[in-house]
Amino acid sequence: MGIVNKNNFDPDAPLYGIGVVAEMLEVSVHLLRLYESEGLVIPFKKDSKHRLYSQNDIIKLECIRDSITNKKFSIASIKTLYSMIPCWSIKRCSGSDRENCEAYTGSTNPCWMYKHKSNVCEAQECRTCEVYKSHNRCDAIKESIKMNTRQL
Ligand code: SF4
Repeated sequence: MGIVNKNNFDPDAPLYGIGVVAEMLEVSVHLLRLYESEGLVIPFKKDSKHRLYSQNDIIKLECIRDSITNKKFSIASIKTLYSMIPCWSIKRCSGSDRENCEAYTGSTNPCWMYKHKSNVCEAQECRTCEVYKSHNRCDAIKESIKMNTRQL
């Protein structure tokens, strides 16, 4: 469950269909599907396989669009940036979990793109994970690194 704000609006609630989001962001449905297949965003999937996006997904997509169109980032560089999110610290992974985790050792994909077996992430649905949900804003990664290295 996401944080419910004072107007009872849950920014993590899946509400908007892919066509609506494409129109809002002035992009094609095909492009949104590409971002999904590249692991930049994880929309909610209904049983019918239709995708639904939340307000926070839209904020994330706006950041992705800004990074690509104005800052000239590639999709690969955005994935590399997401790989820097210190999920191992946020999730308090044990030493052995870290050793066996591609997200900890790799730097090309966000943690939610890996198949996690026999570690703390195995049973967690990434879309509802704090690591995924709390990094929709462009400055969130740096804030996370600062927070998780404050004690050093
Ligand atoms: S559950 Fe998913 S999003 Fe959360 S830390 Fe693990 S891989 Fe990343």
